[in-house]
Amino acid sequence: RMSRMSSDDEVILRHGVVCETIKNAAQDAGRAINSVTLCAVSKTFSAEAIAPVLDVGQKVFGENRVQEAEGKWPALKANYPNIELHLIGPLQTNKARSAVALFDIIQTLDRPKLAQSLAREMERVDRRIPCYIQINTGEEPQKAGILPKDADAFVRVCREAYQLEIAGLMCIPPQDEEASPHFALLADIGARNGLTGLSMGMSADYQLAIDFGATVVRVGSAIFGSRTRAA
Ligand SMILES: *Cc1c(COP(=O)(O)O)cnc(C)c1O
Repeated sequence: RMSRMSSDDEVILRHGVVCETIKNAAQDAGRAINSVTLCAVSKTFSAEAIAPVLDVGQKVFGENRVQEAEGKWPALKANYPNIELHLIGPLQTNKARSAVALFDIIQTLDRPKLAQSLAREMERVDRRIPCYIQINTGEEPQKAGILPKDADAFVRVCREAYQLEIAGLMCIPPQDEEASPHFALLADIGARNGLTGLSMGMSADYQLAIDFGATVVRVGSAIFGSRTRAA
């Protein structure tokens, strides 16, 4: 009987390809191969589907919904030490408490009210986790994020008024546009604010993002396959 690859095998192979592609892209850009972190975006996938990627040593994961993450990550974190879980989706202020308890990094800090809620909660439980500020580089009305013109002031407010640890910036370029100007804009805002972390690039464009200085790439479908539910 012909042997067939299991879907676990396929996920492991795809994860390996993504890791290799990241290394090559970093090298091609003249950057250190360990200067780019892969955030494996596991939204919509079950704990069973995620396990093989944990088994090969992947440590950094991204989820976009607090409730969904609460359903699978506490048990996974208990079984796999040193996991770093990133929130990459919009956060309501009334979920700040759950988010600070479960996530290790918040990538979607996008408004003063949320900065205030996160700061209060981190203070309350004495757990200070780094945040990335989401920038709406395409100035899309339906998309979350700080407008580029307001970015410098917001970085200052987060640092000075709320004492948050701002690790970097994050963006999701408009779907129907070339991504490079958005990556370049994010890098520019980061540089002038002394922020070295740049979370940009997804399955379709993470190599390009690395060329523009990405330090975190958020890759989902290229590892786990296509999602059945809209994220
Ligand atoms: C879903 C998602 C990703 C991953 O998208 P893929 O195209 O599957 O790699 C990255 N970033 C954010 C914010 C997402 O919501």
